[in-house]
Amino acid sequence: MNLNKECVLKNRAVVFFGPPGVGKGTITTRLAKEFKCRTISSGDLLSENVKGGTDLGHQAKKFMDSGGLVPDQLVTRMVVAGLEKTDGCVFLDGFPRTSIQAEELAAYLKKRDWELLVVDLEADDRFLMERLTGRLICRDCGAIYHRINLTPKKEGVCDICGGGLYQRADDRPDVVTARLSVYHQQSAPLRDYYQKLGLMVTLRGDTVLDETLAAVRRILVNIP
Ligand code: ADP
Repeated sequence: MNLNKECVLKNRAVVFFGPPGVGKGTITTRLAKEFKCRTISSGDLLSENVKGGTDLGHQAKKFMDSGGLVPDQLVTRMVVAGLEKTDGCVFLDGFPRTSIQAEELAAYLKKRDWELLVVDLEADDRFLMERLTGRLICRDCGAIYHRINLTPKKEGVCDICGGGLYQRADDRPDVVTARLSVYHQQSAPLRDYYQKLGLMVTLRGDTVLDETLAAVRRILVNIP
């Protein structure tokens, strides 16, 4: 389906920013259809490359498995290739995560004369640790469950498609600790940068999902 042709937010990129586990992927997935916007998720694209055994996947895997960031140049090239195929509007999930990536994005958007809005989602580390280390994902359809908060009807089996559930290698506690620390050191400083540019709105990501979705929706429909 080509969502972009009829997208509601013209000539705009909306960056969903925030720590791992805050819900960027869930929110973009839910709202992309509604706003007829394509989503580019750097984490999903990298995982697809790892699964597909591509050159990029081989290069990225060791960084991802340890909870570190994949080098800027590799990620930026991959995301820009996705942006090149996009007209109208785009949701970005997980990109940018460093100041270099933010600068590359700004330069790219300027070239296309697109506006930028950053939706910053926040939650504290304890909450994120619990959410990520309990997360289970369906191998077949990608549906997300949680060992405590969102259990499937039958243990280990997806309610939707019957596929097997697994834990992502980087959702183990030691790797989550590393991911959170990388977020604080390398990504969180971007909040100041976007705040100063007046491009950012901050929302809590640790409330009920429907509340967060409603808050994001309000922001998107009111973009001037
Ligand atoms: P999360 O946001 O929950 O950490 P993702 O699926 O978005 O999970 O990302 C998984 C991994 O992919 C990250 O830990 C990191 O290694 C890599 N990655 C994703 N996006 C970027 C990015 N913009 N820059 C560098 N590395 C990235």
